Amino acid sequence: MPAGYGGRGHRHGGRPDAGRGHERPQIRGRRDSRRLSEELRRMDGASYGRYRALSGDWDFDDHTLTVERVQADPYAPPSRVAVRIPAEVAGLPDHAWRSPVRRRATADYLVRRAHRLLKGARLRVDVGGQEVLDRSACRIDDDGGVVVRMGVELPGHGRRIDGHAAERELCERVPELVDGLCWEALDTADATSFADTVEDAVALRAMLPELGLVAFVADGSVLPRRSGVSDLPMSGDPVPFVSPESLRVTVRLPHRGQVSGLGVPEGITLIVGGGFHGKSTLLHALERGVYDHVPGDGRELVVTRADAVKIRAEEGRRVERTDVGAFVRNLPTGADTGDFSTDNASGSTSQAANIAEALEAGAGTLLVDEDTTATNLMIRDARMQALVHGDREPLTPFVDLVRPLHRAHGVSTVLVMGGSGDYFDVADQVVMLDGYRPYDVTEKARELARPRTDARFHPPARRVVDPRSVDAQVRGRHRIKRRDMDVLTFGETDIDVRHLAQLVDPSQITGVGLALRTLAEDGILDGRRCLGEALDLLEERLDSGGVEAIGRGYAGDYALPRRHEIAAALNRLRTLRVSRVLRDRE
Ligand code: ADP
Ligand code: MG
Repeated sequence: MPAGYGGRGHRHGGRPDAGRGHERPQIRGRRDSRRLSEELRRMDGASYGRYRALSGDWDFDDHTLTVERVQADPYAPPSRVAVRIPAEVAGLPDHAWRSPVRRRATADYLVRRAHRLLKGARLRVDVGGQEVLDRSACRIDDDGGVVVRMGVELPGHGRRIDGHAAERELCERVPELVDGLCWEALDTADATSFADTVEDAVALRAMLPELGLVAFVADGSVLPRRSGVSDLPMSGDPVPFVSPESLRVTVRLPHRGQVSGLGVPEGITLIVGGGFHGKSTLLHALERGVYDHVPGDGRELVVTRADAVKIRAEEGRRVERTDVGAFVRNLPTGADTGDFSTDNASGSTSQAANIAEALEAGAGTLLVDEDTTATNLMIRDARMQALVHGDREPLTPFVDLVRPLHRAHGVSTVLVMGGSGDYFDVADQVVMLDGYRPYDVTEKARELARPRTDARFHPPARRVVDPRSVDAQVRGRHRIKRRDMDVLTFGETDIDVRHLAQLVDPSQITGVGLALRTLAEDGILDGRRCLGEALDLLEERLDSGGVEAIGRGYAGDYALPRRHEIAAALNRLRTLRVSRVLRDRE
């Protein structure tokens, strides 16, 4: 569903409906459900534009319906409505929402239920997939009231209003929805265990640093998915996960109690194994482990540190003044690789930029899969070194940097590599997948390892972004739209987000666009602060304000992205200009 931007530039900062009411004819006087029914019946057959008069609040006995935005014609993006259910009607018990984690979980649960209740209706709620995200579709207020936001295609006969169908939708389906979302109408055991599952995942992720782990995969987890285009668990007979004893860690969770599984330690972890033995599937689960999963997903207790970032090659991307000097030097063009720009990066330079930028944005763990890397940035074997001498080869392979990256800078790496033994030299642990079962082969790999001299790793230079180069507006109006999972349209330009593996929900893409707008328009990018500091500041706001901290005035659905994907999208914005590059003298 396309989502358009609702407000004009000068008006952002108000409530979604602020300042709209007095622009157009609005129905005045008593505005209750009886009146809404009457008006809709009266509008039947009138020209479609009359729907605009519905804008504003309508008081029902036990809830308020707010028409936030009315589509101009039947073919425009759907109108937007919000339903506010007061706390005494919603009846949520304290345990369902008093903590921020359970509040997010219960809101997500309500969205999923609303989605089922609205089957066959014109009302649409933005439901998530396998991950439980903070999303604009449902909010639980500080007083325990519930707000559900929806799109609705207001019914028409051609360009005339179908008032009777509209009445059914707004005056019957909405009240039914409200009834169905009240706590007493829920399967409360199910709702509670949904929040318990999310709370366990959050608790487990929080334990990782003190356990010295970057990830945990519980025994019994189901990692494979149904297909390349479905994120549901594999049907049939997936091989459940069983941790190798030597790497098994046992933890105690608030709800599930004692759980054991594979603890992926800090440092350098190599995942090896024959083709088709489940290596990428495991790494993919770790990528998603930064998010919480719904019960039944199979990855509920697969968690990864929140600052883990997938790294890949991305030929053709633009790079704006990124310091790739640790990986690339002496390019044939003579370019300064400490301040490197290109409109069309190669496989290796794109991957080098991806790593440098991930570190700049605060990545603490890198997740890498040989399937999507540039081989020449990963390894260079002895024979190739003999043929192409050091001074002719601009690249320092990752294998020479991965140890200093951890030892000196605390950044861990989990790497899938089935095609070369070079990483035996540097790995702290080696896990082999065989028939989807992991085995600890660290000792054997160590016997095959050779001494290797590390290169030096310099942290990438910090960059200051020119805020004028991040502009969400087109002729005075914001334009933030997404196309599938591929493109974020931001102002005049399209950002290619296809390769950001940890954007998992279409609404997160919109969220990224809104976050970029917030960075620029709220002066967080102020032309002085470097990007890392700006992201810290933004994250503080998101931590306290939730997803709505970026949404002001946006008439559509969005979900919360991570800082890492916000930074990644910014780095792919083709208008981006960096005004200063700050090199720390070591
Ligand atoms: P690799 O990266 O080692 O070549 P993949 O991770 O791509 O292998 O997995 C190959 C196939 O095996 C995929 O179709 C995947 O869905 C399936 N698969 C992965 N793990 C399991 C499992 N635990 N049980 C059953 N099938 C699995
Ligand atoms: Mg693979």
